[in-house]
Amino acid sequence: MSLLLRDVEVDGHHVDVRIDDGHVAEIGTLHDADQIIDGRGGALLPGLHDHHLHLFALAAARASIDVGSGLEALRGAAGTWLRAVNARESVDRHVLDGLVPDRPVRVQHRSGGLWMLNSAALERVAGILDDSPDVERDAAGEPTGRLWRYDARLRPALPASSADLGGVVDELHGYGLTSVTDATPDLDPDAVSALRALPLEVTLLGDPTGSAARKLLLRDHDLPTYDELVTSIADIHARGRPVAVHCVTRESLLLTLAVLDEVGRLPGDRIEHAAVVPDPTMLRGLTVVTQPAFVTTRGDDYARDVSPHDLPHLYPYASLLDAGVDVLASSDAPYGPLDPWEVIRAARDRDLGPDERVSAAVSLAGYLTDSDGRARKVEVGTPARFCLLHVPLAEALRNPDAGLVRQVVASGAVPGS
Ligand SMILES: [Zn+2]
Repeated sequence: MSLLLRDVEVDGHHVDVRIDDGHVAEIGTLHDADQIIDGRGGALLPGLHDHHLHLFALAAARASIDVGSGLEALRGAAGTWLRAVNARESVDRHVLDGLVPDRPVRVQHRSGGLWMLNSAALERVAGILDDSPDVERDAAGEPTGRLWRYDARLRPALPASSADLGGVVDELHGYGLTSVTDATPDLDPDAVSALRALPLEVTLLGDPTGSAARKLLLRDHDLPTYDELVTSIADIHARGRPVAVHCVTRESLLLTLAVLDEVGRLPGDRIEHAAVVPDPTMLRGLTVVTQPAFVTTRGDDYARDVSPHDLPHLYPYASLLDAGVDVLASSDAPYGPLDPWEVIRAARDRDLGPDERVSAAVSLAGYLTDSDGRARKVEVGTPARFCLLHVPLAEALRNPDAGLVRQVVASGAVPGS
């Protein structure tokens, strides 16, 4: 089965591209193929890669109540075990009981790190609540409903997930994404097989037996000691795997950098988020995976809540590049917007830290990079995973928008055709 993409723009030239057996077989002026798509001069880009997101959480979020504009949205919601996401407020079970008195509800804070449960929900998960500080308790020792970083521990007490991963893959394809890095830590074997079976290239930072960088989630409320982190990182490096360390505070970043100085860096070591970077040159030699859209979608929260001391150092991008640090843009979906074109606009137009703006070409280039840091190209021999635009690249860079994505070609075929 061969596919001919006729009249597409590749690296500024109008060419035809023939795909055989899932790979680019020929580029030039071509004729024969089993199936022909007329590109009408639109850019043929490599498929985009989102370097940090969470596929299961994304699928679950799509099936959840969005309380981003207020918890009132919970009133009268249908369902037996309600799940809500994107909460701005941090509330206890009594507040939730006032909104949903009769059924269990769990509400995720938009940061992703906090679940808030009402009394009915707490009753159903009582058996799995531990004595750690992650289960907040009142003066009488009763759980308040706030559970920190509790996803994995909560799961066994919840109804089986009916997450629609297929719907998420369709959504990714609609944006031109053909591959992703899932940054969920500590995936269990079932989750790993479900994700690897998707019609999507996945790099899993949470696969305990994989070869990609291994995710380390530093808990900001409860940072590991220096020695504990030395042991964790040295163990992962000893297995030949780089680390991908979640750092959203100045303290966690400085701790991680000090530990990496002691144990040594492996090529591929990454800092996830790097939300506060006092000095970009400290990150030289590492890869930073940033989320430019946090600054535009949460800018008001940051301006209000982040200490004035940290505000000038929030989610840097341009200054990291200037310091010689590799930077890749990503969504952190569902905690940030999935749409890569929105992320690209955010990186170009941000008002918070305008000195950190980068051009659309720069952040798009990050999306056109493999998970191992190599730039993707459309050339003979490369795997056929493409994003075909309606317009030439120059126009897309002037007006980056998801509406310009015509279709993806993944594994040499057009999904859904
Ligand atoms: Zn994340």
